[in-house]
Amino acid sequence: MPGMVDTHAHLPQLPNAGIGFGLDLLTWLDRLTFPTERSWSSVAVARRLAPGIFEAFAAAGTTTVLAYGVIYEAAMDAAFEAAEANGIRAILGKVMMDRGTYDPTIEPAAILDRSLRESADLIGRWHGADAGRLGYAVTPRFAVSCSAEMLRESAALANATGAWWQTHVSEDPFEIAEVRRLFPEALDYVDVYDRAGGLGARTVLAHAIHLSDREVARLVETGTRIAHCPASNLFIGAGVMPLTRWLAAGLTVGLGSDISGGPDASIFSVMRLGAYAQMARRSLVGDEGPILEPLDWLRLGTLEGARALGLEDVIGSLEVGKEADLIALDPASVAAMPGPADDDPTDLVSRFIFRAHPDMVRAAWVRGRRLARAGRR
Ligand SMILES: [Zn+2]
Repeated sequence: MPGMVDTHAHLPQLPNAGIGFGLDLLTWLDRLTFPTERSWSSVAVARRLAPGIFEAFAAAGTTTVLAYGVIYEAAMDAAFEAAEANGIRAILGKVMMDRGTYDPTIEPAAILDRSLRESADLIGRWHGADAGRLGYAVTPRFAVSCSAEMLRESAALANATGAWWQTHVSEDPFEIAEVRRLFPEALDYVDVYDRAGGLGARTVLAHAIHLSDREVARLVETGTRIAHCPASNLFIGAGVMPLTRWLAAGLTVGLGSDISGGPDASIFSVMRLGAYAQMARRSLVGDEGPILEPLDWLRLGTLEGARALGLEDVIGSLEVGKEADLIALDPASVAAMPGPADDDPTDLVSRFIFRAHPDMVRAAWVRGRRLARAGRR
């Protein structure tokens, strides 16, 4: 089947995957995330860890990943070099933050200029590399970590260079309250990014859980894309997106592992958690409308993810004229009993989602080239 498209992950956080359950977002960042990312100030650490991180994504069946890196330029070169060697399709960005940065050695007043210059240099080296297999996303962390000026200048850089622009929106109630305090002039969280010129078809916003009708309408109007990360949202306890309402409103939504807010790089796991979460909404909140079925979830993890990145003409499905980003799955690994494998496609997809097994992905290819994968013969 087509390879999975992960529209939201944090590369350096993979070693933390599976720990930190129940910490609220801002505590989790301070206690786990920032110290881990700070370790990539050593380019030797980045070079040592990055290859295994892409191998882990490939082993999970992910052939395209849109990911955040760290604030260090040299570490981002190491990450791009590892993606280049692995063969995976990767859109990466150096994290930008001029408020509460985790690097105390940089003078706060110098951060904005330096971060823009380093991002522009990385775009020059990597955006569109290997005939478009590698790409760059200008990456202001989120409104809490960025001044209005940094948000504005980063969006201008993305617009001027054709790079993507990625950040987080409306994940957790404490975060939303903090954004309201920091940006009193804005109508709401989405308006903070709107005022910065950050909305549009090249923008991917992660989470988008607690949106008002006005915010949803504005995201639809501007063609802004959403990365839905249900495994992370349940792990951190951020909330449960009203996905069927957002889809009915016309939002373009892909799936994200949000490693390591989410504990698993597998988009199949993300589909399973997402399906359960939507079922829980139906019984607890009374959501109505059609139930998303296994093939709907598969589409979100592949073709809709490609659409979220504007790559639906290139990847996301098996069609003549697209580039061959493929995975091979072993039906026996998810079978309920030994014996002949299930050959009904819908049932098979259902089992890959609801009985996902760590070893079920046997191989992954991008443009027909086999990817290096973690821990596999
Ligand atoms: Zn994230």
